[in-house]
Amino acid sequence: MKPKILIIGACGQIGSELTFKLRQMYGDENIIASDISYNNAEVVNSGIFEILDAQDFKALALCIEKHKVKTVYLMAAMLSATSEKFPLKAWDLNTQSLFHVLNLAKSGVIKHIFWPSSIAVFGPTTPKENTPQHTVMEPSTVYGITKQVGERWCEYYFNRYKVDVRSLRYPGIISWKTLPGGGTTDYAVDIYHKALSDGHYECFLTANTKLPMMYMEDAISATINLMESDSKTLHIRSSYNLAAISFTPQDVAKEIQKHLPEFNISYIPDFRQGIADSWPKSIDDSQARSDWNWSHQYNLEAITKDMLTQLAPRYK
Ligand code: NAD
Repeated sequence: MKPKILIIGACGQIGSELTFKLRQMYGDENIIASDISYNNAEVVNSGIFEILDAQDFKALALCIEKHKVKTVYLMAAMLSATSEKFPLKAWDLNTQSLFHVLNLAKSGVIKHIFWPSSIAVFGPTTPKENTPQHTVMEPSTVYGITKQVGERWCEYYFNRYKVDVRSLRYPGIISWKTLPGGGTTDYAVDIYHKALSDGHYECFLTANTKLPMMYMEDAISATINLMESDSKTLHIRSSYNLAAISFTPQDVAKEIQKHLPEFNISYIPDFRQGIADSWPKSIDDSQARSDWNWSHQYNLEAITKDMLTQLAPRYK
């Protein structure tokens, strides 16, 4: 019998694509998708689905018992831009949900956990270019604080209780299937939709704001590769730096113009500029590349081509 996997936050941008991939790999009957609401019909209707609040320990424990779950991917969280509006809610959701799964693993109910961190763990005092795995980490955003604290607890539970928890510091994730959920890098998805629908995009970051980014296919394969790696090869139990490419809004606009020459962009930075300015511009992920052979496939040219091809039928 294959081990049962629970995905929490399965209707979200990354959770949804992870669910589709895991269902394909391990069979629909072994993957339990869950979310606090039915906000992604494709996820809800294409396999086992449960309504589950990640902050409700009892409900979580019951769901795990009911489906004999051994592995949990905890994808529910409040993202960077929304967290600045609701700091205490962000703190509660992002930390309580993690404690719940860590404690279920500590007591032996589940065996493996994936929990995503973010480049938001870094702050204004962190070296901005080629940010090392181990460096100054003084996040200045609510979201970054919740992720940094989460990393410390993951490492602690691994060292103290031998909990097999694995984590990646995702950069901004670009995808076409599901819209992003309130992050600072959301512009890099919105821009493709607006290029096709309006021929114009008003960007909430400045033209030269360089940030680390990754295409969804690469993020999903990194996540699954990490989870399938031999535990002995993993030297990081806080969270691995993970990188693909770095670019600015202007770089994306130029790449889109190669396909849609009429496309134009304007820049009206809002509060998200401050968040972006506190983050690294590029990431050194050599530890992930050497520990579990991580490598990315998509550069900006390939991302742009695929995004426009996949989204074009929606705007015909
Ligand atoms: P998202 O906002 O698109 O999805 C989150 C999902 O969690 C939503 O479907 C939401 O309904 C669900 N959710 C919210 N509260 C819940 C609760 N109490 N119980 C159960 N479900 C709940 O987020 P995402 O972009 O898919 O991100 C997934 C994870 O990856 C998060 O931990 C996020 O911090 C991390 N991450 C994402 C990015 C990115 O660019 N998308 C970058 C870095 C890290």
